[in-house]
Amino acid sequence: MLSYWEQQSFVRYNHIVIGAGIVGLSTAIELKDKYPAHSVLVLERGLLPTGASSRNAGFACMGSLTEILDDSQYSDEAEIVKLYDWRKRGLELLRSRLGDAAIGYKSNGSYELIGDNELPALDKIDYINNLLLPVTKQPAFKLVIDKIDAFGFGKQAVKALVENTCEGELHTGKMLRALTDCALAKGIEIKTGAEVCRFDEEEKQVVVQVADPVRDNMLMLHCDTLSICTNAFTKQLLPDVDVVPGRGQVVITEPIEGLKFKGVYHFDKGYYYFREIDGRVLLGGGRNLDFEGETTTDFSFTELIQKDLEEKLRTVILPDTDFTIAQRWAGIMAFGKTKQPIVQAFSNRVYGAFRMGGMGVALGSDVGRSLVQLINL
Ligand SMILES: Cc1cc2nc3c(=O)[nH]c(=O)nc-3n(C[C@H](O)[C@H](O)[C@H](O)COP(=O)(O)OP(=O)(O)OC[C@H]3O[C@@H](n4cnc5c(N)ncnc54)[C@H](O)[C@@H]3O)c2cc1C
Repeated sequence: MLSYWEQQSFVRYNHIVIGAGIVGLSTAIELKDKYPAHSVLVLERGLLPTGASSRNAGFACMGSLTEILDDSQYSDEAEIVKLYDWRKRGLELLRSRLGDAAIGYKSNGSYELIGDNELPALDKIDYINNLLLPVTKQPAFKLVIDKIDAFGFGKQAVKALVENTCEGELHTGKMLRALTDCALAKGIEIKTGAEVCRFDEEEKQVVVQVADPVRDNMLMLHCDTLSICTNAFTKQLLPDVDVVPGRGQVVITEPIEGLKFKGVYHFDKGYYYFREIDGRVLLGGGRNLDFEGETTTDFSFTELIQKDLEEKLRTVILPDTDFTIAQRWAGIMAFGKTKQPIVQAFSNRVYGAFRMGGMGVALGSDVGRSLVQLINL
């Protein structure tokens, strides 16, 4: 039973947002900017955000040549350009909102490693550059051969490099910290350890049920609008949406003396990605080795993919260098039949933005903005 005081001061909000990842926080910030006098509450089930936003690779991710070519098998040209533009606008908004220093944004270069299988993609560079030119205003991709030696990559595996002139990198932890601080500074309330178990829409409000293990019951919160920003976990609240989870496993090495490269790198249609951070190599990917097994919301990691990541470090990335793995982790992404995120009004009180694929760092800020444009009180 709530006290009189709790009932008066803690259970009613104008806007509730579920999920404190980049999309949820961006949505909350946009709501507060649009309605400065309204109360905004973010509910996050983990003590820390527990999805993808604090567990990714920190690419300011515009996509690699072979990934975009792969997309062109399933999406038409207009969709590809739209998604590319969305990422660009998202990154511009993220950088202008928080500042490059606060998010550790850097342009240390971005490259795709081209192996024998990907060599035919080089013939398509001009086509993709022309397709994206209205957004990029400069050729996005450029063939470079001479840096393979300088970076020290395995020559058996790497036959060419394609430079991505539009992609940068950031520090994922600093970015999410800065976004959280930005939300708090605007007067947005954030409650962690608050799992939303269900919501019920009524004529004049939405009732949100939050698990309260300490009191051993459900806390009922009330709001005018509810925004569901729960990405891979959305089916728990909206069972009919087209969202499939996809685990991403990651390793990071101990610092490597004399590491030969900086910047961010992709290979194999974006299924593998690695970067330098603090003199270490962070490598993620391998989901394509076991799509079925990686269709999960379980945060553990598997021997199959961890061994493969270590093998890629040994043979492709650091062939002549000893390394030790310092940490391993996994995060959960959300995919669907298309790569476009879902940004939708489910009624005039319930809204949702989710299914960010492997691009949410880039997309998230503008997705929050797009969602709030749908909300009118
Ligand atoms: C390993 C890995 C590497 C990646 N690398 C990159 C990259 O380099 N560049 C890039 O652009 N993108 C990358 N991504 C993708 C990017 O991280 C995601 O697209 C983005 O973080 C999604 O943000 P989000 O806010 O939609 O979801 P999330 O960050 O998953 O946030 C959803 C939040 O909702 C909470 N939640 C879920 N259900 C409930 C509930 N019932 N009640 C309360 N809270 C709930 C979760 O705990 C979670 O914190 C990567 C992802 C992974 C996993």
